[in-house]
Amino acid sequence: MVNITCEMCMDLIPLVQDGIASNDSCQAVRQHIAHCPDCKALFEGELPPIPDSQKILGQIKRKIRLFFLMALMFGMFFGLSLTTSQGMFYNTLIMPGAGILGYCIFRWRALYVIPGFLLVLHPVSNVVAVMLEGEPLNLPSILLFTWIYSIFALAGTIIAGLIHFAFRKEREL
Ligand SMILES: [Zn+2]
Repeated sequence: MVNITCEMCMDLIPLVQDGIASNDSCQAVRQHIAHCPDCKALFEGELPPIPDSQKILGQIKRKIRLFFLMALMFGMFFGLSLTTSQGMFYNTLIMPGAGILGYCIFRWRALYVIPGFLLVLHPVSNVVAVMLEGEPLNLPSILLFTWIYSIFALAGTIIAGLIHFAFRKEREL
């Protein structure tokens, strides 16, 4: 019979659970948790190691943000490409949607980040349109629509922000 300390036991538990510990280690862990309630709780998964779970949560959050950011970019680019076509009116939905998504990713910074994105993406999408459809590049129109879309997006950001704020207040009460 081998006596191990709690720290040794905690080190061995993941190995035992993953089935890669030696037989001696497994036996030592089992003997230890038979008389140590703390390590037994850890072994049975009642107390997941906190730093690890927080790390995983952080990774998931980063992935969701990246996904949102890609959806945001794609949505804005798609919306901008509609500007010179009949589908342009969808932008009264797409741009506020971009503003909401922007708030989810950047919080209030979306108020200046989204217009910045639009200002950069708009000429790009117009150049693509010029190449594909041979339409003339119209700089005043680009600036005008960037301005209009920014207002739509800002409305979405402000609505998302106010809803978020209201929910937070409700939870605090
Ligand atoms: Zn112990």
